Amino acid sequence: MKYIDEFRQREAAQGILKKIYALSGKKVNIMEICGTHTHAISKYGIRNSLPSHIRLISGPGCPVCVTSAGDINRIIEFCKREKNTIVATFGDMMRVPGTESSLQEQKAMGKDIRVVYSPLGALDIALANPGKEIILYAVGFETTVPTVAATILLAKEKGIQNFSAFTLHKLTPPAMKALLDSGELDLHGFLCPGHVTAIIGANAYKFLAEEYQAPCVVAGFEPLDAIHGLYMLIKQLKEDRVEIEIQYKRVVTWEGNTRAQRILEQVFEICDSNWRGIGKIPMSGLRLKNEFADFDAEKKFVIEAGIDEEPQGCACGDVLKGLLTPNQCPLFGKICTPESPVGPCMVSFEGTCAAYYTYGISQPILTG
Ligand code: SF4
Repeated sequence: MKYIDEFRQREAAQGILKKIYALSGKKVNIMEICGTHTHAISKYGIRNSLPSHIRLISGPGCPVCVTSAGDINRIIEFCKREKNTIVATFGDMMRVPGTESSLQEQKAMGKDIRVVYSPLGALDIALANPGKEIILYAVGFETTVPTVAATILLAKEKGIQNFSAFTLHKLTPPAMKALLDSGELDLHGFLCPGHVTAIIGANAYKFLAEEYQAPCVVAGFEPLDAIHGLYMLIKQLKEDRVEIEIQYKRVVTWEGNTRAQRILEQVFEICDSNWRGIGKIPMSGLRLKNEFADFDAEKKFVIEAGIDEEPQGCACGDVLKGLLTPNQCPLFGKICTPESPVGPCMVSFEGTCAAYYTYGISQPILTG
């Protein structure tokens, strides 16, 4: 298949779904770890197209959503305090509510907070504003980090002194491990993210099969990709195999993008990280190496610890752990909507609550 329409063919999807129906019998819980999968699964009615004993559970795969309330409060307090700084951030972070405020509200109150579409945009702001300190507020998984690393290398090469990054990057496999270790979910396998795996390589999940007997299939984001990935996973379960398989072979390899990995490793080192709803996960984050301390906002400035409290009534923590579906949150669709989000899962298009709200849970099924 070469063209996008071919990955959305209804008849082909129905054909694979029929195979899934023919294969499956026992109750299985599969986690789609990635927010983009959650979005595609909701948009194309895949969840409701599956047999009722196959349950898709949405995981903590939206970078905006897993940023802890404490870390959001930290940057908001920093903006309130510092006068001569410009905070540059990606669009979704603007609307994420902290405990009492959001970056968007701070901007409305006159703080200099700007949306950038890439880390290089923050560097441009630094060059255009030599009298100010520019801080890139960067969240993201393994897909985003290489571009941030490349930006920091460029800033160092050009000797730009008024630029630094407050980075809260997170790594996907340790979160999968933490969910399995918690024992809170009875998971039978993972649908793994195509874009993250394009960087880290499918070998990164081998420990899940070897140590946890959790099969994984790396799938793309078109409806046929997701359905085919689920078919591969269900086939494994039916055949009692525990393997890592790649459905998204047109993009993903076992080794990943080694050039991007080298840039990432040159600039960042692994550290513990705090995830919303899950708490501290060992070795699940990235911080700048000491040799880049001049570009590390946490070393250049005082960014104090923030109160780590969810907005009142918000169940995002349990939604991110797959313990609740969005419609089980009492605020869903009533007080909390994409126009007026209470929690981060309703902000980003990758957020589970936003996907459920936008596409509903009763979409016509593909087999319709
Ligand atoms: S509906 Fe809103 S408040 Fe409830 S879990 Fe989702 S984002 Fe959080």
